[in-house]
Amino acid sequence: TLTQTVQRSLHARIVPVPSNEFLIVMRDLTELRRLERVRRDFVANVSHELRTPLTSIKAMAETLLDGARTDEAVAERFLETIIRESDRLVRLSSDLLDLSRVEAKGVTREPQDMAILVGDVCGRLASQADKAGVAIVNEVRPPLIAEADHDEMAQVVVNLLDNAISYTPRGGSVRLYATETSETLTIHVTDTGIGILKDDIPRLFERFYRADKARSRASGGTGLGLAIVKHIVENHGGAVSVQSEYNKGSTFSVTLPRQ
Ligand code: ADP
Repeated sequence: TLTQTVQRSLHARIVPVPSNEFLIVMRDLTELRRLERVRRDFVANVSHELRTPLTSIKAMAETLLDGARTDEAVAERFLETIIRESDRLVRLSSDLLDLSRVEAKGVTREPQDMAILVGDVCGRLASQADKAGVAIVNEVRPPLIAEADHDEMAQVVVNLLDNAISYTPRGGSVRLYATETSETLTIHVTDTGIGILKDDIPRLFERFYRADKARSRASGGTGLGLAIVKHIVENHGGAVSVQSEYNKGSTFSVTLPRQ
């Protein structure tokens, strides 16, 4: 029992060896514990993120059933909320799938012209920017070749551009431009938006972290976009950084090795 107590308190294993001596095997569990905590937090976050829209969908449906459906204006408002919350659940499950996919897999890299890729993404988000009253100014010019996975890099640019549009008030703009060195290329997405407080910056790339919770929810954000960006970029041997001034705007920069 003494052995058991020592084992439990030290998280060590005691191995009897001949001649009345003991060998104590100790393992550093700090990293293991940290990973376990990260996993537990993640599951708790996912449950919370699922429960919030589901609770509101259920409450709306029950109220409609209880008679609110006879008032057409109220019914319409509730149904719109139900659709919006369902959309959020769809986005959440698709972001969770993306995240586990990029966490699990290595990348298949081929030479890509990042300028063409950026141009395609700007086209894809043009109508969203239009609706938000935000101008997109794309100054990334071909050729800008990096070895990368096309779909994953497109997702990186989509997530950054989508955020820049969502967190920029009407009348603002988002500019994309590139800088190069002999070994790397960097794509910058810079906006004239709400900016980010200094204290929030180190945590932005954590899963489910939101600096501006209300706005993230209103824009349908899942809090996973930047975590996905970071994973993809680091899988490519690159790095992502952010510079921001509160109430002025933010610049997210993705640096990739050419090779
Ligand atoms: P979300 O789905 O909430 O946008 P992200 O992981 O993409 O999640 O971003 C995390 C948080 O970082 C956002 O909730 C927002 O507070 C902040 N953020 C991201 N991009 C910008 C930006 N361009 N301007 C201001 N804040 C931003």
